[in-house]
Amino acid sequence: MVLQVFNTMSGKMEEFKPLRDKHVGVYVCGPTVYDWAHLGHARTYVAFDMIVRWLEFRGYSVFYVQNITDVGHLTQDTAEDKIVKRAREERIEPMQLVEVYMREYFRDLDSLGVKRPDISPRATGHLIDMIEAIQSLITKGYAYEVNGNVFFDVSKLEDYGKLSKIKPEAMLEGSRFEVHPDKKNPRDFALWKRADKNTILKWWSPWGTGFPGWHIECAIMGLKYLGRQFDIHGGARDLIFPHHENEIAQSEAVTGQKPFVKYWLHTGFLTINGEKMAKSLGNYVTVRDALEKYDAEAIRLFVFSTHYRNEIDFTDKKLKDAEANLRRLYNTLDSLEEAMEVSVERELTDGEKAFEGRAEKLRGEFVKAMDEDFNTPRALAALFELSKEINRFLDEQEQLSRKLLKKVYDSFSELGKVLGLFQKEKSREIGEKIADDLVKLFFDLREELRRKGEYELSDKIRARMRELGLVIEDTAEGSKWKLS
Ligand code: AMP
Ligand code: ZN
Repeated sequence: MVLQVFNTMSGKMEEFKPLRDKHVGVYVCGPTVYDWAHLGHARTYVAFDMIVRWLEFRGYSVFYVQNITDVGHLTQDTAEDKIVKRAREERIEPMQLVEVYMREYFRDLDSLGVKRPDISPRATGHLIDMIEAIQSLITKGYAYEVNGNVFFDVSKLEDYGKLSKIKPEAMLEGSRFEVHPDKKNPRDFALWKRADKNTILKWWSPWGTGFPGWHIECAIMGLKYLGRQFDIHGGARDLIFPHHENEIAQSEAVTGQKPFVKYWLHTGFLTINGEKMAKSLGNYVTVRDALEKYDAEAIRLFVFSTHYRNEIDFTDKKLKDAEANLRRLYNTLDSLEEAMEVSVERELTDGEKAFEGRAEKLRGEFVKAMDEDFNTPRALAALFELSKEINRFLDEQEQLSRKLLKKVYDSFSELGKVLGLFQKEKSREIGEKIADDLVKLFFDLREELRRKGEYELSDKIRARMRELGLVIEDTAEGSKWKLS
């Protein structure tokens, strides 16, 4: 079975064949770092984390680029940059704001077990590349300059709109945006914007001081780090138009090579009460707040309970259910560990062979589901079925073959890990080890205090330890401790 992916460009499932053998280049549009990451962002980045993990599981070597938007993201054509606006409101340097929220973004996504991209290029670090590309677009006749602003001339491309399938006449329909007066055609989009005297973030360019448009940054950073053509480009579906459509227009016009990207993958929205979770709507739950309330791996499980292309509605109940489901999976891991401790070295019985066959079949179902456009809800159904099957089998049997249990344990934990679950073993072990050492430390300290005759303090420690469930018994041979 080969991996199939749904390509927004063709609107179909396609066999996944990377451009360079086993090497896969992935670009996912990164966050605009002017505020806390919310669960909507988490949905998209957890989904792409799963996609990258699955590609690696399938033997590909993935080079993952995810930018940081630190300039140029305007709320509309004539409005202010989101970062500059927020920095002005908070009366701080825009780059200070960027630094704060970029660090917090990484902290949040680390907590969610999202592996960091190989590189996280920042738009402000690529001004020279952008200016060079804009200059080349003007020279080739794809862009024009008016009053220090540079626009992409959409009429120069016959296939503009091929990703979003939006007809030219429909592109501005229903748009609330005010059209920039310097544009020849309302559909044209800004590559470079002129700075006025109040603009804080600005750079020198052949067209005067200004700043780049949002779409040019991703086109340029994609080209720079992944080449003129690469395999996967992703983001949530609101980026299809205009952001990704414009990225294609600019990149293909600069390089003359098509297609810029082989597979376009888009995530569905995370909603709350049926409405897209968004900063601008004020209906968001930050990742930080969610992590106070819910287990990080339960958040992942919730995200994977729906196919990445579909909408997913956030509710407290769904997160609680995900927590209960996560515990079930961990319990299965624990039961397997316990069974391994009392297992025996011997050949498999017929009953064990039959169980091994059922476990392999369910693993096959998991893999097949993931190979069909990363179908996590179906893969999870197979994983939970496997978990049930294991528990049923362990309940029925006394002593089992060690070889079989080890194989099932490895397989079960490998499938969980490819979804970024089961990361806790280690931290739990580390936590338990530290707790053991701390108990010993207090115990030794108390012994020393007693030897020095400082009974008041040593009794206080004993009382506190008892409150924590640790009982200290003083005997003729010395003190001992146990759990109450
Ligand atoms: P932004 O920081 O607004 O540029 O968004 C960063 C990424 O998160 C983009 O791919 C957005 O489309 C995505 N995103 C924002 N809100 C949501 C949401 N409610 N559900 C899914 N993805 C979202
Ligand atoms: Zn982008």
